[in-house]
Amino acid sequence: MSTLTFIVAGMSNVIDRFLLPAVVEEIENVTPRMRRIRLAGDALRVLDWLPGQHVRVRVGNLLSLRGFRDSLRTYSVWDYDPRGRLDLCVLEHPEAGPGVRWAREAVPGATTAVMRPEGRLIVRRDAPYHLFAGDETASVAFGAMLRGLGGPVRGAVLTSGDRLPLPRAGELAWPLRDGGTDADALVRAVRELDLPGAPGAAYVAGEARACQAVRAHLVRERGWPRDAIRLKAFWAPGKRGLD
Ligand SMILES: Cc1cc2nc3c(=O)[nH]c(=O)nc-3n(C[C@H](O)[C@H](O)[C@H](O)COP(=O)(O)OP(=O)(O)OC[C@H]3O[C@@H](n4cnc5c(N)ncnc54)[C@H](O)[C@@H]3O)c2cc1C
Repeated sequence: MSTLTFIVAGMSNVIDRFLLPAVVEEIENVTPRMRRIRLAGDALRVLDWLPGQHVRVRVGNLLSLRGFRDSLRTYSVWDYDPRGRLDLCVLEHPEAGPGVRWAREAVPGATTAVMRPEGRLIVRRDAPYHLFAGDETASVAFGAMLRGLGGPVRGAVLTSGDRLPLPRAGELAWPLRDGGTDADALVRAVRELDLPGAPGAAYVAGEARACQAVRAHLVRERGWPRDAIRLKAFWAPGKRGLD
């Protein structure tokens, strides 16, 4: 065995320990630019998953010369069935990288693999109310978090028209992009929300600058403590594959 073959075989073994094999079982266009992709497999049974958490999906060859960066993309879990099925919703965007191309080309029967669920964008059960702020990519995690969530809810989801069927959607604002930056539009929408006087728990996700702008607004203008805000940047113009 050559040294290179030996190294590649070793890397494959390491990768296999972390990746759970899965098959694309079903695909549905849920909004004009969003595809719901159902992954299934025995390895996906009884995973520890909390609503709001995400998985890393193999969208390319892990051993390609381009390396890990273009082989894995991160997607929130829209819904999970412990009998071995998890649903992702992937947004089509004009600069389509490996993630969007994978979603675009996915067909039932295609094989892939995912890493175990992770992430701290999860519901704070002790909060007096819950505030959701983000865009259509964030709405995937928000949908999972809102399912079965009791207590008062507020929120703003910025879109270009792609509205996932979120539980409690009627309690959220759905501003449309107006040609300005996501940061300006999202902060404007959150500023207009009628929030109780005291802080609740905020979940902020989506475009990086928009997330930072919402947190700055909550902290500086509304006096929220930073630790009441769970923030996760999902993407940023010019950056590839945030995780
Ligand atoms: C924790 C987490 C959860 C995520 N959950 C979801 C999810 O549920 N659904 C989902 O669709 N995405 C989600 N994302 C984003 C996802 O991981 C990919 O970044 C996204 O699909 C783009 O991947 P890509 O390979 O096509 O483009 P990349 O190679 O990553 O990026 C290429 C370029 O495309 C542009 N771009 C990237 N995303 C967008 C966008 N949304 N709108 C406009 N331009 C963009 C940027 O300029 C970027 O430089 C999540 C990210 C994280 C970190």
